[in-house]
Amino acid sequence: MRYSDELLDEIRSRNDIIDVISQYVTLKRSGRNYFGLCPFHNEKSPSFSVSPDKQIFHCFGCGVGGNVFHFIQKIENVSFVESVQMLADRAGIKLPTLTNYEDEKVAKLKAKVYDVNKFTAEFYHKNLYRPESKQGQEYIKKRKLDNNTLKSFMIGYSGQFDELYRALRKEGFEDEEILASGLVNKSEKGMYIDRYRNRIMFPIQDVRNRVIAFGGRVLDDSKPKYINSPENIVYSKGRNLFGLNVAKKFNPRSHEKVTYC
Ligand SMILES: [Zn+2]
Repeated sequence: MRYSDELLDEIRSRNDIIDVISQYVTLKRSGRNYFGLCPFHNEKSPSFSVSPDKQIFHCFGCGVGGNVFHFIQKIENVSFVESVQMLADRAGIKLPTLTNYEDEKVAKLKAKVYDVNKFTAEFYHKNLYRPESKQGQEYIKKRKLDNNTLKSFMIGYSGQFDELYRALRKEGFEDEEILASGLVNKSEKGMYIDRYRNRIMFPIQDVRNRVIAFGGRVLDDSKPKYINSPENIVYSKGRNLFGLNVAKKFNPRSHEKVTYC
């Protein structure tokens, strides 16, 4: 759990360090700074200084120092998070609840999954043009899909074993984000394997043109003929069916023509 920098700044600015430390230490002004007897070591003459300008404290005797959060942590013997909560409370600032942090975490993961999906759509699309994707190209040819169609629907071809996984890792995505997309599965032995291999790929987009899932079609008569993404953090079945409907039109048994949108 982590508080935002903006929130920490607000809490700090509303807890003047002189006011806070004065509750524990008798401070006397001398020039720009305040001095007092250090509460963290035994001393007879004050070497503990507090700067109102910099909003920090420093002891010339024992070397401790820091901002108002550090002071509370040390004097109250509490964690950083507890010091934030105490000072927020002191300033009458309401902290977001833990649930909000969970929401924030989920929102961050969702944003990453959209990025994973976008990268993957481009990866599959580029992959279609590689010499290794001959099978996919032949299928495309047979289906008489022209280049405009391929491009406008970002139709692609999934590769071998863990090609996508390795490309995503190379791009800087974390395992958690990759697995959350449902595009890669982790085996019991801990191996990462692409969900879609050797399939014609159709990205499925939502109304905001974000790629939320994929449909993957086999090239031969093996089953299942068509698989789509499992429900995931950005995709629930029964919604966002635009791309899926488009993809279904590529079924070779139905001789429908591809509709352009
Ligand atoms: Zn000291």
